[in-house]
Amino acid sequence: MAPNRFANFIKNSVSVLICLFGIPLIVRWICQDKVAILLYHDVSPNVFTKHLSYLSRHYKIITLDTLVSGIHDNDFSEVPPKSVVITIDDGHVGNIALLPIIKQYRIRPTIYVCTQIINTHRYFWFRIPKQTKRKKERLKRLPNVERLAYLKESTDFEPENEYQDRQSLNIEEMREMMDCVDFEPHTQFHPILPNCNDIECKQEILGSKMDLEELLGKECLHFSYPNGDYSEREIEIVKSGGFRSARTSDIGWNTCGTSAYHLKTIPMSDDAGLMRLRAELTTIPQRIGRWVNSILWKITN
Ligand SMILES: [Zn+2]
Repeated sequence: MAPNRFANFIKNSVSVLICLFGIPLIVRWICQDKVAILLYHDVSPNVFTKHLSYLSRHYKIITLDTLVSGIHDNDFSEVPPKSVVITIDDGHVGNIALLPIIKQYRIRPTIYVCTQIINTHRYFWFRIPKQTKRKKERLKRLPNVERLAYLKESTDFEPENEYQDRQSLNIEEMREMMDCVDFEPHTQFHPILPNCNDIECKQEILGSKMDLEELLGKECLHFSYPNGDYSEREIEIVKSGGFRSARTSDIGWNTCGTSAYHLKTIPMSDDAGLMRLRAELTTIPQRIGRWVNSILWKITN
């Protein structure tokens, strides 16, 4: 069995067990006063419809602004029980196909975009063809300058290269979506911020805010750390740069007392069926997945 199929088999089996034991119901009850920020990337319209159909029946879908205002005011009176926020990272071109569903369910998700990749034919470095998952994991651990040098040498990739096809949303699509979607910055080129030097880090965070505000003609107040990686330095730059919040990919729920610059998240599989969705809302499969990956990384490196 191929590794991906095996991993999927394990995740689906764990999900069946979680649902059989009624854990989703228990977790939903225990966490009813906390807010889950769900994180998608390039989810298909078909899967997104199924998820929203389930979520809208069992949860209250609120905006990121509502959650962040509640945290800053230390007052969750505007935040209903069992609330979730929908966020989508990177600004993949396929996101435009979600617009009819977003309208149908009358939600306002946040899409965090890489501001020097949207509206161009540039590639996301992690979506260059023929890069294995293992190689990408190695690249995420290199200093930024070494990662770029490796990509240049092995694939002739440079962040500003333009290609035939388009991987990200363009401005026409974003304008079409703006009434129903809150676009916010996710750096310019999606580096791993703690691996950048101070100048690169500031440019990626503050430059992306300026890029997006100029492109869309609106103020941008929310940030998300690429790959969920951050250190005290990134938090300081985000705070002093005028952002009101930053989302990590630390797994968990948010309360009144959560720091607005360490928002926790529930990463969702873009291909999760209903059983997996219910299991992933407990965060158990994701925690097991990260634990297994970290052990495999230690064994093989
Ligand atoms: Zn990202």
